[in-house]
Amino acid sequence: MDNLQKQKIFTGIPASVGIAVGRAFVVADEGEFCPVRRDIEKSETKKEVQRYKDALSETNKEMSHLKSDITKTLGKDYARLAEAYQQILSDPLLTRDVPNRIAEGLNAEYALYVVLDRVIKSFDMIPDPYFKDRKNDIEDLGNKILSHLLGRGKRQLSEISDDSIVIAKTLSPNDTVTMQEKHARGFVTEGGGKTSHISILAQTLEIPAVVGAIGILGFVKNGDIVVIDGGSGRVILNPEEELISNYRAAREKFIVAGREFEKLKDLPAQTLDGKRIELAANFDNLQELPFILNSGAEGIGLFRTEYHYIGRNDLPLEEELFESYSNIAEKMLPYGVIIRTLDIGGDKIPDPMLRSGKGCPTFLGLRAIRLCLKFPHIFRPQLRAIMRASAFGKIKIMFPMISDVQEFLAAKKIVEDVKNELDKEGLPYDRNMEIGAMVEVPSAAMTSDFISREADFISVGTNDLIQYMMAVDRTDETVASLYDPSHPAILRMLKNIVESAHKAGISVGMCGEMASDPSYTGLLVGMGFDEFSVPASAIGKIKKSIRAIERAAVARKITEILSIENPEQLKKELKRLT
Ligand code: PEP
Ligand code: MG
Repeated sequence: MDNLQKQKIFTGIPASVGIAVGRAFVVADEGEFCPVRRDIEKSETKKEVQRYKDALSETNKEMSHLKSDITKTLGKDYARLAEAYQQILSDPLLTRDVPNRIAEGLNAEYALYVVLDRVIKSFDMIPDPYFKDRKNDIEDLGNKILSHLLGRGKRQLSEISDDSIVIAKTLSPNDTVTMQEKHARGFVTEGGGKTSHISILAQTLEIPAVVGAIGILGFVKNGDIVVIDGGSGRVILNPEEELISNYRAAREKFIVAGREFEKLKDLPAQTLDGKRIELAANFDNLQELPFILNSGAEGIGLFRTEYHYIGRNDLPLEEELFESYSNIAEKMLPYGVIIRTLDIGGDKIPDPMLRSGKGCPTFLGLRAIRLCLKFPHIFRPQLRAIMRASAFGKIKIMFPMISDVQEFLAAKKIVEDVKNELDKEGLPYDRNMEIGAMVEVPSAAMTSDFISREADFISVGTNDLIQYMMAVDRTDETVASLYDPSHPAILRMLKNIVESAHKAGISVGMCGEMASDPSYTGLLVGMGFDEFSVPASAIGKIKKSIRAIERAAVARKITEILSIENPEQLKKELKRLT
């Protein structure tokens, strides 16, 4: 390592797990979407518009190649990303507005910039990660058109070698495919988010990746040694020798663990003393389905349905939802799907038409079931779609953010009304469909005995339960240290919920992030949880932990563990359980 280079650590957003050590390959910043203004004469307009149209058609061709590359590598479903770019290319914004600006006397590059900048700025005003990612898509497309206008053609990414870690402002799905073909070790971008297409593709292609590493381009140079940890979001430039060997060792472990998890795929999630745990996957959007189907998950334990509602100006129609739910339920057979009804609000910002005059619903406001009960025109079509889809697969329904049993009964009553409607219309559905409640509000946790008497199952949403119990905003990094799943208050609450559910004879699961941390698996199994739903990428490690637990032995220690006051001692005890 060059000793003159100082170690520097960046923390971005973990986009795709895995550790990579390699040499920085900085993608030239040619695409910075900020072209120079040049006023043109009236006589130049025609030529300039033609130059712009040529660039559009070159970009279109590039997208067609991208589409066939992705179709070959990943299958048709993923080529939609390129199709979306092609759709934007034929939008009047690009085909009409930009030529109009050229006709007003702007050069093509700057006319393009002015038009797209307006769209990008309007996306900036929406504090929703989905819009941030769409903004990145627009910028990426703008850069592509720009590079054709500037005659730069394809980026230098084709020149990467097999020890490269690519570092760029933004990358496109095509770039991700190229990186896999050239065996790049990983990539880091300054832009992007968890729902960026490049993050999704990186997971599919198993390329370690960190996105949102803001500021890294100001420091990194070509050839710098870089370590990336796609699980934690850490990027280390010019790491000290000891750190490199630590990460190399961690990488080896990760690879070995991956092979071990793979071997467990078809084995049951069963403890040493024979307790079968249902291990299902969380589903957030359609792109995750191939991972889930390949992960060894026994179904979907939390189907977050928000993706149909976010990022549009209208509500999805019943038919659209029905198609989607029934298709997924069919694909998951012989396993089941727990569909959670709409949980809009908090950090899941609704589309503009749902916002009230008081601004976006907050974590304590009109969120999830509260919003659905208030707006039947939103709730009922979704319920009808879920019920109708239940004729095509094994579907259970689950209500989010239930505060008490009355609210749960109110939601169930609407399901009954919908059933009557479907009966009258002669539409089939599963008459025995189970209806469950998410327990993620402290008042529901404290009265989980009442709720358990009315519910067919319970699933604990620790992401919210912890934030509400501890009064810690789950998105605020300044109070993140207080967000502690092992706090005695949380552990006692969990035990209370499990006991209530079992007393009522129903199954109790957990679908919050706590379930995907193997350091809690022993404790949770010992408490009596029957089901876990975790991201597909965590199925292997949780299954491995479950299979190493002697449940009865752990169960005997639970009372003692819950009486520990000192957090450090508690953590030590938890470690001993796994
Ligand atoms: C939770 O709150 O733990 C949960 C699973 O739901 P979400 O993260 O979607 O709020
Ligand atoms: Mg929640």
